[in-house]
Order: sequence, then structure tokens, then C-alpha cells
Amino acid sequence: MFRKRLPEERPAVPPTGYKVAFPMLSGDGTRVGFRGVSLGGRLVYGTVDDARCGYGRRHLSPARGCDCGFYCLHSSAEAQALTCATDCQEAVVLTVSVLGAYTRYERGMRYARQRIRSVRVGSCGCGRPAEAFRYAGTGLPGWRAVAATCRNCAAGLKLLPFPEFARLAGPAVMLTTDAAPDRAVGPDLLLPQLAAEAALLQARLDLFQERLNRLADP
Ligand SMILES: [Zn+2]
Ligand SMILES: [Zn+2]
Repeated sequence: MFRKRLPEERPAVPPTGYKVAFPMLSGDGTRVGFRGVSLGGRLVYGTVDDARCGYGRRHLSPARGCDCGFYCLHSSAEAQALTCATDCQEAVVLTVSVLGAYTRYERGMRYARQRIRSVRVGSCGCGRPAEAFRYAGTGLPGWRAVAATCRNCAAGLKLLPFPEFARLAGPAVMLTTDAAPDRAVGPDLLLPQLAAEAALLQARLDLFQERLNRLADP
């Protein structure tokens, strides 16, 4: 995927990257995670996590002589484009901070540790804006995959609201949806979405307020 290796660098702030992953909910419903695509397809990682070997080898990842490790792209548009692929349509686009050691290539990076900063959810499979996650019907031991859905397609299904997913992901993770305002979307569909967005904003505000309080009262 990434051929040409570029010269070493030591940045003051962690580099940003973009990647696609499948959103997951733990079997007991208390944690969310992300399943990698391709090599990382058998592993689920959390909001802040270390890379593990996708072949199950017992070495620190990435390792010399093995192609395991976290991968990301430099371009969000390129990551977004991957979600058009048939087997990635239920994937979300993550913005990550690349922590620790990394190797920078022309199109992206391979690295050891990451922090997820945002989760961008695409539309429902039917093309309407997504309003919540539903169970995707797939999973790994201990983890169920979830996929974005609109209310029409989700009729009668058990849903995982976006604000709940964001809460489980942690206060530093921002969740957004590709909810392009669509004339076909009536107020009955739009209102829950606005409520969900308001809840997310509120969570962000709480975080900032907490930080402000800490600054004001060291
Ligand atoms: Zn490995
Ligand atoms: Zn739908």
C-alpha cells in the first residue's frame, strides 16, 4: 500500500491520519471498539490503543520483517473514498493522532500507537442520512459489529444511539454523521438527529467546562 519510505522526522505534535474501520460494541454493551480492515480484520482496538500483530506473532508491532501495525492515510478524502468499496460500506472514517514511533510513507503511515479523535459515520445503506447504529449481524468473539441506519430501515430493530456510542468511546472522541440535509427528510426524521447532535455538543461543552475549571482552579 505504501511503497516509498520518507526521511525520519521528530514532530512537536503527533501527526494526524485518517483510516477506515468497522464500529463494534462489546458483547456486554459497555465498551465500543473498532475492527480493522484487511490485515487488522481479526483485531478490535479501543479509543487509545497499541498495535498488535495481525498474524498473532509475539512481537511488538510494528516489527521488522512483518507488515503488521496500525496504518493510516494522510488524506481524509482518500480514506473516505475507501468506504465506497463493497466490503467497506459499513465502515466509518476515523481521524487519529499517531503516537509513538511511526514510519511515514508517501500516502500514509505505519505506526505503534494511536488515539482516535473523531468518528465520521456515513449514510444508511439506503442512502438516507444515518440516525443510529443497528447490529450489523457480524462480529468477533466478544464483539458485535454495528452499522449506521436510518429510521425507515431500522423499523423494529434494536438501536444503539450515536450519543451513546460517543459516550462509550470517551469524552475526547467527536462523532459526526454525513447527514447532508435532504429534502426527503421530514422533521420527524430530522428532530432525533438534531437532538443527538445537541447531546454530542453538550458532551463537548462539559469537557471544555471541566478543562476551564481546572485552569481557573489549579
Ligand atoms: Zn507482526
Ligand atoms: Zn435506510
